[in-house]
Amino acid sequence: MGLGEFALIDRYFRKCGVKRADVRLGVGDDAALLDSPAGCELVAAIDTLVAGVHFPHGSPAASIGHRALAVNLSDLAAMGARPAWALLALTVPNSHDAWLSEFAAGFSALAYAYDVALVGGDTTSGPLCVSVQILGHVPKGAGMLRSGARPGDLVFVSGTPGDAAAGLAVEQGRLDAPAAAATYLRKRFLFPSPRMALGERLRSYASACIDVSDGLLGDVGKLAHASGCGVELSYGKVPVSEALVQAVGDERARELALTGGDDYELCFTVKPEHVGKLRQDLPPQRWGYSLIGVVQDAPGAVVMSGGNVMEFSHSGYDHFGSSMG
Ligand code: ADP
Ligand code: MG
Repeated sequence: MGLGEFALIDRYFRKCGVKRADVRLGVGDDAALLDSPAGCELVAAIDTLVAGVHFPHGSPAASIGHRALAVNLSDLAAMGARPAWALLALTVPNSHDAWLSEFAAGFSALAYAYDVALVGGDTTSGPLCVSVQILGHVPKGAGMLRSGARPGDLVFVSGTPGDAAAGLAVEQGRLDAPAAAATYLRKRFLFPSPRMALGERLRSYASACIDVSDGLLGDVGKLAHASGCGVELSYGKVPVSEALVQAVGDERARELALTGGDDYELCFTVKPEHVGKLRQDLPPQRWGYSLIGVVQDAPGAVVMSGGNVMEFSHSGYDHFGSSMG
């Protein structure tokens, strides 16, 4: 690398994200020293983004920095946890200043939004690859699991899934859309908003939760499987954005909402007796979530339309079955 590794870390990552009082020692020593609050469980997740697999080669550096943190924050949101600290393992082909400062700015802006301190990491030279580990907290025993759903629970999803998959297609020149719709969809892929506030609040209402990263149908299937149940979604209730419908039409929009990927929305289940309170305390219009189905006994995730089961060619993005090319 041009810039020495040490100078690079110092310039871009020593002051990335917020400064937190619970960081006794951050970037600079052999390891970080962190103060965990009493009465809480530490919640940990890690996710890796590989160039050409999880984002197209040549993606804006700010987007890569943002997404590397966002995908991890989304995992914490799904647990109902509050994020605190992140570690960043960055492999870059060179120490190009403009790229690194844009990357760090993208990461840092999202870290500021959710009060996350960057407390350490590793920097190496090689093909572009970004791993972020996130650490956060949840009150003891209060974390939402995938496994808590029971037959009869209602299934909800936040936001409008499918946008990001279309945004990626626009980004790659595989999809043409009216200018305003294209801008919106691209932003949904490049700068996803993890649902942190909703996740934390859902702890009081949800029986199970998962974040939607590989396609709604596949991910709701994972939740159902972990719960030892199945799930039935209503095709007509799957929420889709106006921009997505403008770009691909109503039918393809719903298909993308069910099978696209990179949404980073929350899919959660709520016992019927808690739904009234959920809707009262967290009005769906304000919090942006929709009822899409019901948990059932029979295993598997099916989509129903007018009394018929719909077939989908694939129910989620399979990293080993397809590639971004
Ligand atoms: P070591 O050889 O002990 O692993 P390094 O030279 O790799 O130390 O890192 C020095 C310090 O910089 C450590 O505190 C490490 O956590 C931090 N660090 C290295 N790379 C990054 C990065 N990309 N982001 C944040 N902190 C980093
Ligand atoms: Mg190291």
